[in-house]
Amino acid sequence: MLLKRSKEEVVLLLLCGLSIPSILPFGIVRLFQGNLILATVDLLIVLGMLCIMVFVWRTRRVRFAGIAVTVFYSLGMLAAVYVKGVSIVFWVYPTMIAAFFILRAKEALMINSVSLLCLLAILHDAMPLLDLSSVVVTLILINLFSYIFSDRTSLQHFELNQQAEKDFLTGVGNRRAFDRQLQSLCKQGEPQTDACLLILDLDHFKKINDQFGHTVGDQVLIQFCSLLRSRIRNADSFFRYGGEEFVVVAMGVDEFTAARFAEELRALVEKTELLRDYPVTVSIGVARKLAEEQGQAWFQRADAMLYAAKLSGRNAVRVAREDKA
Ligand code: GH3
Ligand code: MG
Ligand code: MG
Repeated sequence: MLLKRSKEEVVLLLLCGLSIPSILPFGIVRLFQGNLILATVDLLIVLGMLCIMVFVWRTRRVRFAGIAVTVFYSLGMLAAVYVKGVSIVFWVYPTMIAAFFILRAKEALMINSVSLLCLLAILHDAMPLLDLSSVVVTLILINLFSYIFSDRTSLQHFELNQQAEKDFLTGVGNRRAFDRQLQSLCKQGEPQTDACLLILDLDHFKKINDQFGHTVGDQVLIQFCSLLRSRIRNADSFFRYGGEEFVVVAMGVDEFTAARFAEELRALVEKTELLRDYPVTVSIGVARKLAEEQGQAWFQRADAMLYAAKLSGRNAVRVAREDKA
């Protein structure tokens, strides 16, 4: 069941889950030793972790839970140092590093900085100045290294995701990126957004390859993409669905506006000389998203219109009529 959860949920569940067997025995031993204050701190941390585990399991809201866990951990750690004193200060190190695993680097750094100031206030009378300076300097270094590491990892993660969703030939979004956008637009229970799908397929592209070779075919695909990119608004997205087939997701427009836009794109491709002395044209199928419609059904309606455009003789636009859906 854990496998169906996101990475963030698993980290939080494991962290809370592991902290229970690590802290509970200390709480029980301290309770029997009559150390009631520290036992209460331990047992409160265990209870808090249990509540957060249940919260994450049921709601899947990891961001709020992540901040709650970190604040909770930090408060517990500060309370323990306040009660027990210097002997417990080495617990501060793993607690601060854990914050970088749970939160974004900036958030972790902020919470840890406040904790460090509180720690200074708690320990300034309890330790010789030189020892206190060592604790502070090593904690600052730990935070600095963790921040750099976490920030770099997030950046690499972001770049990797971007690469994984880019078509290597044309630089536009690939099929994977399109599937993700389609899914997010058709999420159940989300507010409905006006959007239209335009599926574009270059006409008789095989002939271009056969006549001029694959390399020239590739150049036509690249130029076709840069031509379309220059006409597509920032709010819209453009993907290579596969081969010589592309998709534009036009946001916030009805099917009439989308049809005009598709016609504009078709005419633009027709009049641009993508290949010297050789006509390159495109056929386009358009469909507006219906309320509560699944991505696959929406795509199939636009694809049926592309098929109709091809049947009509190519170099044409066809739009799905909503009453026919
Ligand atoms: P239609 O008008 O019916 O769409 O005809 P078509 O020839 O465009 O369609 P068909 O599906 O028969 O052929 C598509 C061609 O696109 C075949 C394939 O070699 C070519 N193709 C697909 N991907 C690439 C690519 O990355 N580079 C090049 N150069 N050609 C590609
Ligand atoms: Mg084609
Ligand atoms: Mg095709």
